[in-house]
Formats: sequence, structure tokens, C-alpha cells
Amino acid sequence: MFRKTPGTKDILPDEVSCWQEIEEATRNIFSLYNYREIRTPIIEEAALFNRSLGESAEIVQKQMFLIKKDKPRPCAQERGKDAYALRPEGTASIVRAYIENNLGKAAGLIKVYYIGPMFRAERPQKGRLRQFHHLGCEVLGSQAPNLDVEVITLADNLLKAYEIDGYKITINSLGCAKDKQEFTRDLRKNLTDKLPKLCADCQERFKGNVLRILDCKNEGCIELVKGLNIRQGHLCPECKGHFDKVSAGLGSLKIDYAVNPYLVRGLDYYTRTVFEIIHNDLGAQNALGAGGRYDNLVHDLGGPDLGAIGFAFGVERLLLVRSQESGVRSKKLVYLITLGEEAKKEGLKILDSLRKAQISSDTDYEDKSLKGAMRRANDLAARFVVIIGEDEIKKGAVTLKDMASGEQKEIKQEELVNYVTHSYLR
Ligand code: AMP
Repeated sequence: MFRKTPGTKDILPDEVSCWQEIEEATRNIFSLYNYREIRTPIIEEAALFNRSLGESAEIVQKQMFLIKKDKPRPCAQERGKDAYALRPEGTASIVRAYIENNLGKAAGLIKVYYIGPMFRAERPQKGRLRQFHHLGCEVLGSQAPNLDVEVITLADNLLKAYEIDGYKITINSLGCAKDKQEFTRDLRKNLTDKLPKLCADCQERFKGNVLRILDCKNEGCIELVKGLNIRQGHLCPECKGHFDKVSAGLGSLKIDYAVNPYLVRGLDYYTRTVFEIIHNDLGAQNALGAGGRYDNLVHDLGGPDLGAIGFAFGVERLLLVRSQESGVRSKKLVYLITLGEEAKKEGLKILDSLRKAQISSDTDYEDKSLKGAMRRANDLAARFVVIIGEDEIKKGAVTLKDMASGEQKEIKQEELVNYVTHSYLR
């Protein structure tokens, strides 16, 4: 027997309704904010991610699923161009698509959202998969602080629409590229004598991605960096002003957030505002979602110089913290039970008329007993059961059971569609 590969998951029919609820709420909220959906390929040039996320990012170093090209390039400088990668995240692909399709020219500022699978070769554990799903958005074309406010508020409203509570929003500003450089230099200087006390991962980070040390989850590293007493002192006046406006905007909308100067995010492309949303029920992998500005990335990838911001939630983690009850809803399904051969023939027509009227319906194809078929209707969470046997055929009627109220009555066959339609509207 074949088994699924480690770190992947079958989303079975029983779970799919929860996914669909999340997807539906997502589309509704994004449309309220005037975002349109974008779908980019799952496979991209590996070099796109090396370039955007940064060579030292953990994702690039250790987690990309690479597919070798048929004809490897001989030249050493072209490293990364020898392979395609299964996308580990959405931002780089969307920026690539924006530039390649010249989206800015036609639309100016562009607001897009996406839902789809991402791939990272990580060690699987609770909330950490190799194939998982992102649901996120990107806005390209503005540095306005109110846009940061919109995007963070949007993330908050999505969580409310999913009926998730108990999460915490933390924000920070990394400043512009120059601020980041200074911050990195100072941090490296301040950490030099503490290097031997850092965990093995942070010793690596010290070489390539020193900011990452600030959000290491290792207890020893947390204590060490606490001692550095990090404030937002590296921000230039413009970046400080930008951050103040973002904070004030969030405050005016009564968004519950905290500033965490230790929040850095691991990817090269982030500048200015970064944010993360965590939930304590998740355990070690406690981030529900995260995002931030990337004001230099579009230009770095060959496009115009413009501000941009986005975020992504992990769908599997949203589902882990979503209250179980919110997923259980009685379905608008009519379940038809036929008793006898004549009833089966009549049943075909009844189902056909229900479906033509856009009413979801199903029947028993396994010759179950009445009791067995009722049990099946229950399992399917059907809203109505329609029973037809010899008696009903003679009268041109059906027996209708409302599974919500338990009420049962006989109605004329030709009234069935109307009756169900009106009940659904009530
Ligand atoms: P990131 O791009 O790493 O900030 O990811 C954004 C969100 O995606 C995280 O906050 C998680 O909710 C989710 N996520 C990231 N990596 C994984 C993974 N390996 N398995 C499941 N969810 C993930």
C-alpha cells in the first residue's frame, strides 16, 4: 500500500467543508476591501526565491524543494538558475507576475489575494508541514502608512470572520534598507563577545542573517538578546514618522496590538513595518500568520521603485485553532429514500427536479433499509429527508421530514421544490 509522503496531508471530504468555509469568508472579506484574486504557478525559477528571500534565509538554505533542469548551466555565477523550485511562499511569485505582466501600468496600485499550496522541506511536526496552504494578500504601489493600517486591520477582520479569537498581533518597524544595515552592524558588534553563548543556529545566523537572532526561540538566546535592550533607535526620522502613523491609525481603529522591537522576520525583502499574529494554542509553531512591507523588492527584481506590503496566514494553523463548533453546520441537503422498484423510478425524476431547482440532493444507491437510509441522512447532516413508497406514489405525494425540527408530513410531489426553497429562505 502506498502512503502519503511525510509532511503532506489528505484533506478528506469530512474536513473539506471547514476549508470551504474559510475560503468563502476569505473571498468575502477581501472583496470588501477591493482585493482581486491572483493565481500564480506552483513552480518557479529557484533563483527568484534566492534573490528575493535572500541567500542566507533559512527557506533558501534548507527548505526549498528543487527540481533540476534538463540542461544544467555550466557557469558558476548562474547558481540557482539550474533548478526550478516548488514555491515556498507567495510574495516573490506575485512580484514576478506583477513585473512580467506589467500590471502596474494598467492598474496603478494593485491589490491582490491568493489561496494555495506552498512547499518547504521542513521537519514535520504539529502545525508544520511540507505541503501547507497560504492565504494571503499583496498590495503593490504605495508606501502610505494607512495602507499598512488597512492590511493589518484586514488580517484582524479575517480572523474575526473565521470566528477565531485569543490571538495576539505584534508589530515592529525594521526601517529602510539603510536603517536595517546600521541595525545589523550594531547588532553584530554587540553580539560579538556573546557569540559562544548563542545556540548553534544563531551562530550560523550571526554570519549571514544576524537580525534573525532577535526572534530565536531558544531560551538562552532569548535571555541574551533581552540584555541588549533593543529599542527602535535605529529608525531614521522618515521611518520613525511612518511607524508612528501606522501605530496611530491602528489605535484609531481600536486594533488590539503590541509593539515588539524584537520582531524581525527572517527574509531579506522586509523593510519598515513587519507584523506577526500568534496564538498560544498552537504550541511551538505559534504563528498564525505574518507579513510586512517590502519597499525595495519590486525594484530589486527589475520593476519600478514602489512601496509594497502583504501578509500570509497558514490555513492548516487557522483550522487548528478555529473552534470545532463553528465548523459543524447542518447542510442544505435533501436526502431521498425510495422504498421499492417503482419508487426508485419516481425518485429519479424527483432528484432531477430538485437539482434543476438548484437544491442539493442525494439518495441511497445501496438498497439500505429505511432505518439504514435514515442513519445515512443523519450522517450527511441532511436538512430534509424525502421518503417515497407505494402509498405516496398512489397519492402523487412524498413524505417529508424536517431533520432540524423532527416534524414529518405528507406533501404533494409537485409542491416539494417550492416547499424546500421557501424553508431555506426562512
Ligand atoms: P511565513 O511565510 O513563514 O511567515 O509563513 C506565514 C504563515 O504560514 C505562518 O505564520 C504559518 O501559519 C504558515 N506556515 C509557514 N510554514 C508552515 C509549515 N511548514 N507548515 C504549516 N504552516 C506553515
